[in-house]
Amino acid sequence: MTDAEEAARLAAELFAAHLPGAGWRFGLDNARRRAGACDYARRRITVSRHLVAGAPLEEIRQVLLHEIAHALAGSGAAHGPRWKAVGRRIGYTGRRLHDRAIAEDQAPWVGSCPAGHEHYRFRRPSAPLSCGVCTRRFSPAALITWQRRSSTREAGPGVSRDASRA
Ligand SMILES: [Zn+2]
Ligand SMILES: [Zn+2]
Repeated sequence: MTDAEEAARLAAELFAAHLPGAGWRFGLDNARRRAGACDYARRRITVSRHLVAGAPLEEIRQVLLHEIAHALAGSGAAHGPRWKAVGRRIGYTGRRLHDRAIAEDQAPWVGSCPAGHEHYRFRRPSAPLSCGVCTRRFSPAALITWQRRSSTREAGPGVSRDASRA
């Protein structure tokens, strides 16, 4: 668990180390589908307040490094080799959670179970799936319903992460 002040302090520290004098600001957003966002036009990096409330500081650090790498690599780099190289250089480890954050950035299919856990897929699942957070085995009571998103852009203001572990 991290509080908003701790997150802001950490962001200031990381901006000073990696984006000195570049005029980037930090903020929290209300997004639930992504962990963080990099708004190139407004030079603003935001982290979901839901993530901040539920995650340890080390996880917030990784999300900030993910977004700082976007700021350094430029919007055209997306999650390609240039962004990856920058991320590696500044200490972004890109482990499981963050791969999931990337899937959430880009996956066009968003599903939710009756309890509201969100799931992300690049293709619409061909068979019915139940929520792995609610139940370990297939259960019709925890069936996920899928919807296609219209657009998914990292640089937009809406960003975040959800509570599911699937
Ligand atoms: Zn990203
Ligand atoms: Zn669920």
